[in-house]
This record gives sequence, C-alpha cells and structure tokens, in this order.
Amino acid sequence: MKLSNGLALNGHPAGRHFLQIPGPTNVPDRILRAMDYPTIDHRGPEFGRLGRAVLTGIREIFRTRSPVVIYPASGTGAWEAALVNTLSPGDSVLMCETGHFATLWKKMAERLGLVVEFVPGDWRHAVDPETVERILVEDVQRRLRAVCVVHNETATGVTSDVAAIRRAIDASKHPALLLVDTISSLGSIDYRHDEWGVDVTVAGSQKGLMLPPGLSFNAVSDKALAASKSAKLPRSYWDWHDQLASNERGYFPFTPATNLLYGLHEAIAMLLEEGLENVFARHRRHAAATRAAVQGWGLEILCADPQRYSAALTAVLMPAGHSADALRKVALERFNLSLGQGLSKVADKVFRIGHLGDFNDLTLMGTLSGIEMSLALAGVPHSRGGAQAAMQSLAAADAVR
Ligand SMILES: *Cc1c(COP(=O)(O)O)cnc(C)c1O
Repeated sequence: MKLSNGLALNGHPAGRHFLQIPGPTNVPDRILRAMDYPTIDHRGPEFGRLGRAVLTGIREIFRTRSPVVIYPASGTGAWEAALVNTLSPGDSVLMCETGHFATLWKKMAERLGLVVEFVPGDWRHAVDPETVERILVEDVQRRLRAVCVVHNETATGVTSDVAAIRRAIDASKHPALLLVDTISSLGSIDYRHDEWGVDVTVAGSQKGLMLPPGLSFNAVSDKALAASKSAKLPRSYWDWHDQLASNERGYFPFTPATNLLYGLHEAIAMLLEEGLENVFARHRRHAAATRAAVQGWGLEILCADPQRYSAALTAVLMPAGHSADALRKVALERFNLSLGQGLSKVADKVFRIGHLGDFNDLTLMGTLSGIEMSLALAGVPHSRGGAQAAMQSLAAADAVR
C-alpha cells in the first residue's frame, strides 16, 4: 500500500508500535485525549486559567519555587535560551564531554560566541566533580561564568551527580552559574532545581514528561535572573523577560502551543498522582532489570561506572564486528520495535534501550523479548536468557519492597 504522503506500508501493522528510543517516548492515551480538544483564544480568560495551572504545576516537577519559562520549541531551543539569557559575547564557560548531547551544547555555545573549556571524556563516564572543582579553583581570575552539564547523557546512558557538582562549585567558592540539561531526566530521574542550587534547568516535553515533541523549559533561579539583566548575547524570541511579564497572568508573549499545554496539564497530573518518588523508583527498577537482561545476553553496558548507570535508558555495546544498526533494522521490521541508534562517535557500535516515560513491566518485557529475538535473527553472538534474567530482577526487586 502506498499512502498519499509517499510512505509505503505493507498492510496494517497489528498491535502497538514499541517506541523504545530514549525520547520521544510513548504518549499515554490520557495525554492524547487531553490534547484532542479545540484550540482556544490564547488571550481569552479560559486560556489564562490553563496557563496559570501549568506554569504553577510544572514547578513541582522541577522541584522549584522559581519561575519556569515554557517555549514552543524542541529542547535545543531551551539550551539556547539558557545561554543567551545569562551570558555575554566572549564569556568563558566550562562544559564536560559526557557524550553526543554535551558535545552539541558545546558547539552551540561556540556558535553563539562563547569560549568553551571542554573537559574531554570517553563517553562512558559521568562528569567528575573533582575535576570541576580543580578547574574552578585554578580559575583565580574568575573567567568562567557558567558550568554547563548534561544530567542524563542520552547518548551513553550515564547520569551525572548534580548535587556533587554543586558541592564542588561551592567548595571552590567560585561564583559561576550552574546550567543543567535535564531533557532526558526530568520526570524520570530524581532532580531538585532548588535544593541543588541550579541556576538554569533546561528540559523538553518528549522524554520523561511523556508528551509529544514541541515544548521546552527553562527553570530560572534568582541568580540567573539577575545575570540576565546584564547579559549581552543578542536575544529576542528567547528573552525571559517578555515571557515572565506575560506569564504572571497565565499568558505568553506570542502564540503558545496551546494543545501541547493541555497535554502538559495532564502529564503533570499523572506524575503527581503516581508520586514523583514512585516514578523515580519505577524507572530505577526497570533500569536494573534491563541491565540484568544485557548481562544475561553476555553483552556490555556502555556506562563504565555502575554508580552512574542511567535509570532512563541503557546503551549496549555490540560485539566487535557486528552492526547495531542491522540489529535495530531487524527489531523494527520484524517486531515493530524502535531502538535508539548509536550517535556520532558510537554510531553503529551501540544501540540504546529507552525505558522511560509511560512504561511498565510488560512494556519492558515486550521490549527485551523483542531484542532477544532480534539478536538471534541478526546472528549476533549472545547467551539466551536475558529476558528471563530481567523477570527475575523484577521479582527480586518486588521481594525487598
Ligand atoms: C533529546 C535531548 C536533547 C535535544 O533535544 P531536542 O528536543 O531534540 O532539541 C538535548 N539534550 C539531551 C540530554 C537530550 O536527551
């Protein structure tokens, strides 16, 4: 069958597609229905109620009392907003090469005219707080204006310890701002904007928040807001001040993504109904079971530090000489299962299993069974029994609950 948009379909694929890439994630029916509603006047009274509800509610997810700015943009837009609102041309910033996303944020900073001190990394480890502290202590002239870190590096499945990075900055007595990308961790992995003294938290809609792509966020501390008063990088669309002025009454300075905001309202309600602590525990339990499966297959997890395993995704190294993309192709064609590809330096060498968002034990077992069957079909050397090991891990976690 050929669709009018040119897409070819070999008949209707029965059952649900398994979107197990680490974002976008599966959108729950409750959120889809919440968005299936007429678009309203974004300057009318009904919109004001919606705007106030989401602008207040989202603070609970960031665990902040500070304002959260919401953009109709992908996460990349919110990266740019964080930089252009707080920094000036020629400012130096400290970034750490945890993986592909940290590297992209660094390239953006350079394009914007910032000078980046980039701590090299092997794409298997988290940000090292001691290195951050040493660099800040050595920066006696206080050239560095910001430390920018990716909380959960989605390319590698490695989560950095933001609280420890905060302690490192405090220990160095350095005044740099702390900017954190939580695009693939917010709503999946414990995160505390206020308690951890983060100045700008960057997030997106399509990962832990279970929404379609199209919204992104900046949670803004008082210190970041003060920095924005003197920051000189050119900005217009991204300017926090226009946003904050309109947000006070629940409105936006330009047309917001109204239907995505209906979805956001529902997503916040769902996360709070489950309870954030329960959401995080659910993700940790599924991540542990996924790792049990990978170890059961005899394959290697990309993250080399068990303390820093991601609860949102697991990146798996292929045995030498075997293509991750060939395996992913089998999984998609035979089982309607999308797995994350290896990005840039690890292209075709790793595949990524997303276990975040709207996800339960059976979504996990469907995903892992699909991978195990695909490993066999693709002729990848492995041991059987990974999926079985994951079931044992789930049961063992329940026994201690
Ligand atoms: C997905 C992702 C991004 C990019 O977000 P877009 O919505 O694709 O612009 C940036 N950082 C991290 C950690 C991500 O997971």
